[in-house]
Amino acid sequence: MNKYELGGVLLGRDVIKNKVKELAKEISLYYKNKPVHVIGVLKGSVIFLSDLVREVDRSIQMKLDFLSVSSYGASTKSSGVVKINKDLDESVVNKNLLIVEDIVDTGLTLQYLINILRERSPKEIKVCSLLDKPERRIVDLKADFYGFTIPDEFVVGYGLDYGGYWRNLPDIHILRKVD
Ligand code: 5GP
Repeated sequence: MNKYELGGVLLGRDVIKNKVKELAKEISLYYKNKPVHVIGVLKGSVIFLSDLVREVDRSIQMKLDFLSVSSYGASTKSSGVVKINKDLDESVVNKNLLIVEDIVDTGLTLQYLINILRERSPKEIKVCSLLDKPERRIVDLKADFYGFTIPDEFVVGYGLDYGGYWRNLPDIHILRKVD
């Protein structure tokens, strides 16, 4: 069993803050004339989502809903198994959905989510992800709005965890293996 410890900062809080503002501007422009139903994917996206939605222009008509999926457990590798643990509270029929994710890695989670939400007849589905790890992609997916492309490293902080820990860190760190 490998042990891990907190490594160096990959993305500092100021860099993240600026990027969140840029993303919020793009999102404000895109949803200028249509209401948006933001879907937060628990728990990894909560810190990002709460910063992001407060930067979106106040004229945008926005609602928030959350769902929880499990894909990793206490591991750094994708199991490929994605399960809904908590479903949305509201119907998404005929709504403009914006899924907010922390990271797109293999893309399996997002593909699964998009597929199940599509079956519920929304008007549109867009995706915003803070991080994109394209090197490990298994399915051909790209977020419509994304913050940073990162290398193939396991990262924690700013909502992202390892075994439930480190979500509260204000910066994004690399997780380092201890021999
Ligand atoms: P995917 O299904 O795209 O492989 O993985 C998506 C989910 O895996 C993310 O929502 C996140 O919970 C987790 N994940 C993928 N890469 C990382 C990473 O580098 N750090 C952390 N903490 N979680 C990750």
